[in-house]
Amino acid sequence: MNGQRVGIMGGTFDPVHYGHLVTAEAAREQFGLQSVVFVPSGRPPHKRQGGVSNFWHRYLMAVLATATNPFFEVSILEYQRSGCSYTVDTVRAFRDLYGAGTELFFITGADAILEIFGWKQPEELLAMCRFIAATRPGYDLGQLHALLGEYFSGAVSVLEIPVLSISSSDIRGRIKRNASIKYLLPEAVEAYIIKSRLYQDGS
Ligand code: NAP
Repeated sequence: MNGQRVGIMGGTFDPVHYGHLVTAEAAREQFGLQSVVFVPSGRPPHKRQGGVSNFWHRYLMAVLATATNPFFEVSILEYQRSGCSYTVDTVRAFRDLYGAGTELFFITGADAILEIFGWKQPEELLAMCRFIAATRPGYDLGQLHALLGEYFSGAVSVLEIPVLSISSSDIRGRIKRNASIKYLLPEAVEAYIIKSRLYQDGS
């Protein structure tokens, strides 16, 4: 659709938490996005097999977390595609779906974007969509500036999100040592984790 702006929220979401939700909502407001589609990674090329929870757990937690926001959706696109889940293929699929008149914004963590030149076809990817790099305040942007050079102001925008001090790995660690995860993620996601006995082995 012409003139539309859509956010693609890329991440493992293992599990999704308030940091992700606040990031997506801030990006929606700041960049005037009509919707934000959460895309849980299917088969992440950079993570060892078995190191990531089953896709359907991560998908269902994202659905529970986003259910109350009419602007948020969750996609199974990376699960449906065979082989490794490369972001360039995901963005291409969204471009085909929405058409060339829709501007795409790929939202993810700044630390992930630091690795972008190791991803598949990074130049094509940077040309196809704008990137929103989510960071916590105080994050040293020097590395990102140095890495992206001329791309930095054009293709990549930085979004500071204080609540991004919450992290999925910290939540997994807390569950393993029986510490509370209350107020770090939506109650429905917390209940799902308990019911499904996720992360108890620290995976
Ligand atoms: P990661 O390396 O696990 O995460 C790096 C950092 O970014 C972590 O602090 C993480 O926090 C944070 N983060 C991740 N997604 C975020 C989001 N949407 N909003 C805010 N913070 C976020 O990264 P990942 O989740 O595996 O990958 C991020 C995205 O990059 C995915 O869409 C993935 O498919 C893509 N990627 C593509 C390639 C490729 O095409 N070759 C390679 C690597 C990554 P939490 O752990 O708390 O989320």
